[in-house]
Amino acid sequence: MGQFDAQMSGSTTERRAWAIEIIRALRAAGHTAYLAGGCVRDELLGLNPKDFDIATDATPDRVHVLFPRSELVGAAFGVVIVKGRLGMIEVATFRADGHYADRRRPDSVTFSDAVTDAQRRDFTVNALFLDPLAPADPALTASLGIVPQGLVIDLVHGIPDLAAKVLRAVGDPDKRFAEDDLRVLRAVRFATRFGLAIEQATESAIRHHAGQLAGISRERVGDEMRRMLGSPSRLAAIALIEHLDLARPVLAAACIGSWSQHIPALNALPIDAPPMLTTAAWLLDRGLDPDYRTIHPDPTAALRDSWMLSNDEISDLRSSLTSLHTLETKWGGMGEAQRKRSAASAGFAWAKHLLRGRHPPLNTQISGEVAQLAARHGGLAPSPFITGDDLIRHGLRPGPRFKAILDQTYDAQLEGRVGDQSAALSFALALAQSNP
Ligand code: ATP
Ligand code: MG
Repeated sequence: MGQFDAQMSGSTTERRAWAIEIIRALRAAGHTAYLAGGCVRDELLGLNPKDFDIATDATPDRVHVLFPRSELVGAAFGVVIVKGRLGMIEVATFRADGHYADRRRPDSVTFSDAVTDAQRRDFTVNALFLDPLAPADPALTASLGIVPQGLVIDLVHGIPDLAAKVLRAVGDPDKRFAEDDLRVLRAVRFATRFGLAIEQATESAIRHHAGQLAGISRERVGDEMRRMLGSPSRLAAIALIEHLDLARPVLAAACIGSWSQHIPALNALPIDAPPMLTTAAWLLDRGLDPDYRTIHPDPTAALRDSWMLSNDEISDLRSSLTSLHTLETKWGGMGEAQRKRSAASAGFAWAKHLLRGRHPPLNTQISGEVAQLAARHGGLAPSPFITGDDLIRHGLRPGPRFKAILDQTYDAQLEGRVGDQSAALSFALALAQSNP
């Protein structure tokens, strides 16, 4: 189920060949085995699959016997990880999922056949199998304009949906989203990633289940959001989340302001914007004041909790907003040292991306000024002429005053008021004497 996504090596062709080797071995042992899910969908769309998952009627124990270099980590859910030179491949036993008590994973699974296994998958385009050892039937996929390497086994109307660019839940959409609310976000991710329109009954079920998102594991929500907000289709994903009224359940207490057609920060994001930069732009376009620390409750803290953000992610998000606030409200009144410190600070680069959409002329002006600052007195962040050790060597004791002296001396260096180490030292010692 993709939960064991791991480092892969080798080309797509090599990894596909390895998957086929595994399928051959399963067949030789008397089992049915197919490529399954995302990789079939990707191949039918003419895309390179990220990983090749295998579905089989062999039980996990059987798979483990056939492939000694395998791990039974997900065996309770019917998933065995086969290891090899190119990384790992998931071999999942055909199954029916039992009741979802924690709305995350089924309490139990029952091993079954391909028809049942297709039924437990989320969307028709994700529920296709491909037999790579059988010849293709070109008529089957003519609507897609592609002849796959193998015979597609479509038990859920997946090929017509893929051809019509439709995302449709397998079976009764209400039941499927009730089993696992995360499918609501998966729907947004797959629809926007592949440019699919969400089928009407599926969309109504999504709207109906939106409120229940709060009940699912925050790690899973955070994980889905990271994937969506870090991908090139991030704008479409956000627009769809807003369109489906999912912003409140997704952003929780960080859902401030409102959504409109005016999204300058999002529109100006670079194509490779990381998820937290995208998040900052989204919140700003919804009306977040970059001086977020004055807002109670703190929306970034709310988001940290609802998406289980790492310390690095939350500090990236916060420092970009803080830096943006500085650029928008204080830059004009700042001296050379302060500007250099700001330009060298952690949030500056992201703040500039955000500013580019929000205040293009100010952004251009600051870019020019920073370029000039970078060419003056050792640049934006030269290594300091003196450190605390130098002060200690000259008889000063560490303390609150100590740091202030170092800061002021560094400012003098940034502004060219001291030009070398000995000038910096005299400057610092004079400060220490003038105001002990
Ligand atoms: P990706 O390229 O993003 O990995 P994928 O289709 O491979 O796309 P995975 O999350 O890796 O998606 O899951 C593999 C397959 O398992 C899916 O194609 C789908 O058939 C099934 N699946 C995964 N998660 C769920 C879920 N929450 N509910 C139902 N089926 C699921
Ligand atoms: Mg996958």
